[in-house]
Amino acid sequence: PLVLGIETSCDETGVGIVRGHTLLANTIASSVEQHARFGGVVPEVASRAHLEAMTPTIERALDQAGLRFTDVDAIAVTAGPGLAGALLVGVAAAKAYSLGLGVPLYGVNHLAAHVAVDQLEHGALPKPCIAMLVSGGHSSLLLVPDVAREVIPLGSTVDDAAGEAFDKVARVLGLPFPGGPHIDRVAGDGSGTAIAFPRGKYDDGTLDFSFSGLKTAVARWVEARQRSGESIHVPDVAASFQEAVVDVLTRKALRACEEHGVRDLLIGGGVAANSRLRALAQERCDAAGVRLRVPRPGLCTDNGAMVAALGSDLVAAGVAPSLLDIPADSSLPITTIHV
Ligand code: ATP
Ligand code: MG
Ligand code: FE
Repeated sequence: PLVLGIETSCDETGVGIVRGHTLLANTIASSVEQHARFGGVVPEVASRAHLEAMTPTIERALDQAGLRFTDVDAIAVTAGPGLAGALLVGVAAAKAYSLGLGVPLYGVNHLAAHVAVDQLEHGALPKPCIAMLVSGGHSSLLLVPDVAREVIPLGSTVDDAAGEAFDKVARVLGLPFPGGPHIDRVAGDGSGTAIAFPRGKYDDGTLDFSFSGLKTAVARWVEARQRSGESIHVPDVAASFQEAVVDVLTRKALRACEEHGVRDLLIGGGVAANSRLRALAQERCDAAGVRLRVPRPGLCTDNGAMVAALGSDLVAAGVAPSLLDIPADSSLPITTIHV
């Protein structure tokens, strides 16, 4: 069946079309530039942008796939978690298309979709696998017996998400929003061992993360030098911060694999686009005999294909479609894969 997926949980209006695990179209309209001067996503601005972009983005996706509305067999949409007003636009559109086309509706979990998307690139997920989800709002380790049916949380951040830490440190360093990709780029000219920043919860025996201490340490380090008029080598600060984050992430991910006897690790979410995280994860997985899967960067950050991918799995698993009165749930827990 042909599944059209709609994503509007944050500032990206994403539409993806898949058949099984074959990606047929993936179109995105982003309001990121409208938020840049505020240093963060402004919910009302995002909602309005989704409303304007929704129909054209769907039409572009159909165009890209060479398909018509009548070819669509099911609609999937992000029902949460995310910004309430932003989610509402996608959910309302999905209901309208489902009703108008007479096809089933699947309200899906955005976080589970970040996991499911990898199948569009690397085929069906091994059952079980360990998934590390690192994004703007979440940092979690998950045991995934079956992404369409069961996701078990093993640990998560106790304060800032990894992407949030990237964005805040970028701001301290005077880099534009969202800062993750800029830190990644600038760090390429610096040394990851130049400054020894703290690695929160490194050896605490849990599968939880903490990034706020690191973020504060970087801010203090920079302020101290600015006060004394010393110049800062921004690439070294960026690279050393990035190294601290990816060191902890990869260590805990491999610990999760070991504790649960799982030999397949998937990394997803926006921060999975980070080049140093990808490299260090590969190195450590090779050493531990763990197979690593990371989708290409364009599928790591928010997109519609990920929603269509999870919708496709739900259809294949014979899961009952959602009712037409499903709400958007801004705090939908990861254990609720579909609503
Ligand atoms: P969530 O999925 O938790 O609801 P979100 O949808 O806002 O949050 P994503 O789009 O999945 O998050 O990820 C965005 C985050 O990824 C931002 O914090 C951004 O800075 C970060 N990011 C994107 N590319 C990179 C990169 N190359 N290196 C580090 N961080 C990155
Ligand atoms: Mg975004
Ligand atoms: Fe996301």
